[in-house]
Amino acid sequence: QASPGLVLHPSFPQSQRRESFLYRSDSDYDMSPKTMSRNSSVTTHEQHPQSILLTPFFCHTVLASLRTVRSNFTILANVTTPTNKRSPLGSTPTVPKATLSEETYQQLARETLEELDWCLDQLETIQTHRSVSDMASTKFKRMLNRELSHLSEMSRSGNQVSEYISNTFLDKQNEVEIPSPTQKQQDKPMCHISGVRKLQRSSSVSNSTAPRFGVQTQQEEALAQELDDLNKWGLNIFRVAEYSNNRPLSCIMYAIFQERDLLKTFRIPVDTFMTYVMTLEDHYHANVAYHNSLHAADVTQSTHVLLSTPALNEVFTDLEILAALFAAAIHDVDHPGVSNQFLINTNSELALMYNDESVLENHHLAVGFKLLHEENCDIFQNLSKRQRQTLRKMVIDMVLATDMSKHMSLLADLKTMVETKKVTSSGVLMLDHYTDRIQVLRNMVHCADLSNPTKPLDVYRQWTERIMEEFFRQGDKERERGMEISPMCDKHTASVEKSQVGFIDYIVHPLWETWGDLVHPDAQEILDTLEDNRDWYQSTIPQSPSPPPDISDQQLESCLDKFQFQLTLDEPGHNHLGEDCCPEEEVMEEVMEEEGEDEASRPPQSEPTGTVVENTHSDGSPEEEEVSSSPADDS
Ligand code: AMP
Ligand code: MG
Ligand code: ZN
Repeated sequence: QASPGLVLHPSFPQSQRRESFLYRSDSDYDMSPKTMSRNSSVTTHEQHPQSILLTPFFCHTVLASLRTVRSNFTILANVTTPTNKRSPLGSTPTVPKATLSEETYQQLARETLEELDWCLDQLETIQTHRSVSDMASTKFKRMLNRELSHLSEMSRSGNQVSEYISNTFLDKQNEVEIPSPTQKQQDKPMCHISGVRKLQRSSSVSNSTAPRFGVQTQQEEALAQELDDLNKWGLNIFRVAEYSNNRPLSCIMYAIFQERDLLKTFRIPVDTFMTYVMTLEDHYHANVAYHNSLHAADVTQSTHVLLSTPALNEVFTDLEILAALFAAAIHDVDHPGVSNQFLINTNSELALMYNDESVLENHHLAVGFKLLHEENCDIFQNLSKRQRQTLRKMVIDMVLATDMSKHMSLLADLKTMVETKKVTSSGVLMLDHYTDRIQVLRNMVHCADLSNPTKPLDVYRQWTERIMEEFFRQGDKERERGMEISPMCDKHTASVEKSQVGFIDYIVHPLWETWGDLVHPDAQEILDTLEDNRDWYQSTIPQSPSPPPDISDQQLESCLDKFQFQLTLDEPGHNHLGEDCCPEEEVMEEVMEEEGEDEASRPPQSEPTGTVVENTHSDGSPEEEEVSSSPADDS
């Protein structure tokens, strides 16, 4: 027994502390020999936590523990601390070493060492967790790169699709010269957010009796009928625009906030709300083909539907719901209709302002928040300071995550979450910690942003036309300036249908499939539509008359087809969900294997088992090439 007055433990018994901020997969409680031997071979720690949650509670506990260690150290080493300002609050004064029996001294030393080891374990686990996520994303990028290089070797159009996906969805280092500031830029310090314009009269709402749907319209009945689908994935936002006097964003925001009773919950005056959303809508560019307020309305309504998915029933707080909808509404505001890379390559003010990092997304956020300062626009005026702070933090997180170059890390984290997910008896996801909830929210908005191909075909096709028009306009600008034309932006060479199939196979399907796993079985219909739409685009790909040097479309299809199975964390020889395996360990082990491999020197056998297909190279010589693997291969 330690002498009274000694601080052996901070406020919580160790076992309780551990349980409260670590969660484990069920396999940790599985004492089968296989699990035990695997665990013991992987770690020397008594238990191997699946994930650690960096909550304030966690920090508090580790901090308290370290203070205890420090305090005990002063006793053990017999050092006096005159001011003792680092002693834990409320702890009793330390006892001089001389007053301790040898036995007590030994016990205190042992327990202090244990306490310190425990802290080190916790800190190590955080580091491990972080790198699991990074490594999983690195692995995904590597896998995608490998597939894309096959694709690009196959044909010119395959190369263009591959370039488009690689430039848009992989995080690449920018290889541009740092522009020297022009005189004009030097004269104008960047103290204001460009793009915020004077309030237009049409966006000012002064009376508190808003029209039935928030906006003036002659076609109220037709609008009412469209809005019957407010809570459905199939809502036709194009018709909402048509019947709402071309105010799809204002109209849909009003409808959603009414439906969710958010104006009441957050005491948002209706005139302030309408003034803000109309001002916001006015800051989307009507003359930009895709990134206009229609797209913002679409992403907001899609987010609204995803928030109501049964697997997430009552998971999010009202503030989180408000933040997600607000983030979706502002996520592309003041979009100029050109990509981040274009802005960087042309030394634009925006790229300069944001140092080439998530240029557009930073700008959308700045404008979205800045507009709250316009007259009668502060929809968050009745939130507490703390609520405003939390909301702002979440919105920034979600909008920055719409930068498509972050796609792979988002997907990797989502997959990791799926593999360790826990649900209640009623099938609702358990997301007790903020870090998990915000991760789901950022993926949700990302999914909504990449949801065109999951919508009814007639709606999806309109989106495709719009995005291609926007890409081609950027291509025209690049041509005029004598710049290299970005992939998919050259109207003379782009293959629209192939790009949609590639976009679905490499990006949209892997993402939505993972979302589908997370909220299983809620997203089944969405996935079915996605697959039907993919097949429709595939069937419209014009057949090229002579295969070489262009690969035949069947070959392209077989290449595209198989990728969707490969972009999972499981590879041949590994278990899938629900087995008594320890997913994060596996992820890490697999990734480590990959990391350790030298791409160039790796013998062919070390590739994942794949299907060997005949491939015709541009010189016409047939060659055996491994293109991909499918789950069928290893079963
Ligand atoms: P955002 O620009 O924030 O809307 O992010 C979506 C990005 O995903 C777009 O800029 C495109 O690069 C890509 N994207 C979305 N929908 C499509 C589509 N139907 N076809 C090709 N790329 C798309
Ligand atoms: Mg965007
Ligand atoms: Zn968008």
